Amino acid sequence: MEFVSQQFNSTVGSLLNPATTHLAADLYKNTDLASLNVFEKAWADWYLYWGNPVLATGIMSFVLHELVYFGRAIPWIIIDAMPSMRKYKLQDDKVPTPEQQWKCTKYVLLSHFTVELPQIWSFHPICEYFGLATHEVPFPHWTKIAWQIGLFFLFEDAFHYWAHRALHWGPLYKHIHKKHHEYSAPFGLAAEYAHPLEVLILGMGTIGGPFMLCAFTKDLHILTVYIWIVLRLFQAIDAHSGYDFPISMHNWIPFWAGADHHDYHHQAFVGCYSTSFRWWDSFMGTDLSYKRARARQAEKKRQALEGSAKAATAKAQ
Ligand SMILES: [Zn+2]
Ligand SMILES: [Zn+2]
Repeated sequence: MEFVSQQFNSTVGSLLNPATTHLAADLYKNTDLASLNVFEKAWADWYLYWGNPVLATGIMSFVLHELVYFGRAIPWIIIDAMPSMRKYKLQDDKVPTPEQQWKCTKYVLLSHFTVELPQIWSFHPICEYFGLATHEVPFPHWTKIAWQIGLFFLFEDAFHYWAHRALHWGPLYKHIHKKHHEYSAPFGLAAEYAHPLEVLILGMGTIGGPFMLCAFTKDLHILTVYIWIVLRLFQAIDAHSGYDFPISMHNWIPFWAGADHHDYHHQAFVGCYSTSFRWWDSFMGTDLSYKRARARQAEKKRQALEGSAKAATAKAQ
């Protein structure tokens, strides 16, 4: 009770006069602020401003999520409005209408404020209990950030593969996952268009990695988690974009799933269950129908090109 009261007082205090609260001053009493780089100084300033790490982290986490989610979806909305981009659309006869996009945006916003906000807000205090660093500066070395994010990618992909596959089991599909499959030709904004329980279940794959790493090693900074979340959001939104460009990642990283993989999942309702990588589907044989469908498409395209080349030759003669 005393802790809650202290938290409340510090929150109120920080809002009234942030820089002078005792808690704010205590945050960096053992840190040499003069030795920090410009980003670390800005980080410390943010925490000193709010004076309360729970509040400062909660606000930063939620705002970051909203900015990245909708910010990353905007280029896809613009691309959908450009007829010249149609040749790169995986299901070129199914372009989302503005009404569909608006309906999706409203639902996602409601879900963010009701389902995801408490999750995002409670993530930090729970992890801090297990040793997550938040206001602390300097930041970890970039090599540590890189290998930790690599682990999160591997864990999330495996977790998602099995959890998503389970969500396709009759009763779970009918009551939970069907919502996400409302769009058989997805678009960027639809990445988090899902039933609240699905958000909770699949969200465990995203935060489970940081949570376990933190619990076992006590060596994780929230900056690393933020970079992971940003990359994961980019991955999810791009996978739902519905577009496959010659420069798309899976064309130069063969095991990257990308939109080509997940768009098929929405189109066919089965197979291609993983998020970032192709190996789980490949290993479990859940991508066979996808491979056959893409082979048929490639053959059709080849025949069409051959036909038009023959027609051009006949015309020239
Ligand atoms: Zn599904
Ligand atoms: Zn999806």
